[in-house]
Amino acid sequence: MNIKLNRRHFVELCAGSTAALGLSLIKLPEFETLFAQAIKEIPVIWIQGSGDNGCSVSVLNAIPPTIQDLLLTDVVPGSHVSMRFHPTIMASQGELAEKALHDTEALGGYVMVMEGGIPTKDGGIYSTLFETSNNEPIPLIDTVVRVGRGAIAAVAIGTCACSGGISRTPPNPGGVKGLSEVLKDAGVTTPVINIPGCPPHPDWFVLTVADLLTSGDPGSIEVDKDLRPLKFYGKLIHDQCPRRGNFAAGQFAKKYGDPECMYELGCKGPVTHADCNDRLWNNKTKWCVEAGTICIGCAELDFPIFKNAVGDLNALHLPVDMTKSLDKTALGIAGAVGVGTVAFAAARALSKDKSGSGH
Ligand code: SF4
Ligand code: SF4
Repeated sequence: MNIKLNRRHFVELCAGSTAALGLSLIKLPEFETLFAQAIKEIPVIWIQGSGDNGCSVSVLNAIPPTIQDLLLTDVVPGSHVSMRFHPTIMASQGELAEKALHDTEALGGYVMVMEGGIPTKDGGIYSTLFETSNNEPIPLIDTVVRVGRGAIAAVAIGTCACSGGISRTPPNPGGVKGLSEVLKDAGVTTPVINIPGCPPHPDWFVLTVADLLTSGDPGSIEVDKDLRPLKFYGKLIHDQCPRRGNFAAGQFAKKYGDPECMYELGCKGPVTHADCNDRLWNNKTKWCVEAGTICIGCAELDFPIFKNAVGDLNALHLPVDMTKSLDKTALGIAGAVGVGTVAFAAARALSKDKSGSGH
């Protein structure tokens, strides 16, 4: 995408963005120089729905390339993101904020970012953004569909935005759904990229946006069936885990803090696709399993409700991906435990019969 700016339009953009983000983040003279040099400029409308803003916090904590790099410097030479609307970090509010959103929509060529789930029940009235001139609340879903329809691409950041996540957990009284489902239901065909995680790793988002800047084409980003970029979500946590050897050897932790594989404690690594062990969290220092806790599967669209039993070696309903990834030794162990359990149950039933007691 190549947006040409005339002087007047450029000054309006500077003023609008500066109002939206605040002068603490953007120093106007530098901003003007950067824009004057810009070849491409991609406006972003960031909408927040049903969630806890944790995804914004995660992204703001990115180390290089930071979100500020994306906004102001040279992650991609000559290309910049202009964060035109973000409810948490923008300095403006009320009508000025609403104007920033509408002006960006009118400009076109923008990327939409959705954070949080989208309530759909009862016309979506359980989450609202702005009001009509008659002070009637405008359901968030109306804004999401309208902004999504005009976007060149939509990025769902966090599991709530991708699939509803925690906000969708039953009984889900607000009928919360993820962005791709909401847009599909509304007949909107804008390409969606999902960046799940609770919260997602900042790199997953920042580098995806950098890829969008580089190519200008969301179709060039390779995604899996859940619309996740394969470069971040292409492998199972389990296949890269340093405790995988313990799994294969049948050595399982009985409590947190034990050094063995935490499968029996409910680790979702065998059904979770992400590169946490390579990329590391908290300024590249640790990841969940290394910190001594299980992978809770936050990068899967099923999160937090998994259909498959994990942490139970007797469960024969192993997910397809898991059966593919398990080595023969591990399957042998699982099978042996299963057979052993059946034998144990049969022996126990026999002994009950003999004793004539149910206890
Ligand atoms: S089950 Fe969890 S702790 Fe065990 S090897 Fe797999 S990812 Fe690692
Ligand atoms: S290890 Fe699992 S729970 Fe931890 S951040 Fe990665 S995907 Fe989420």
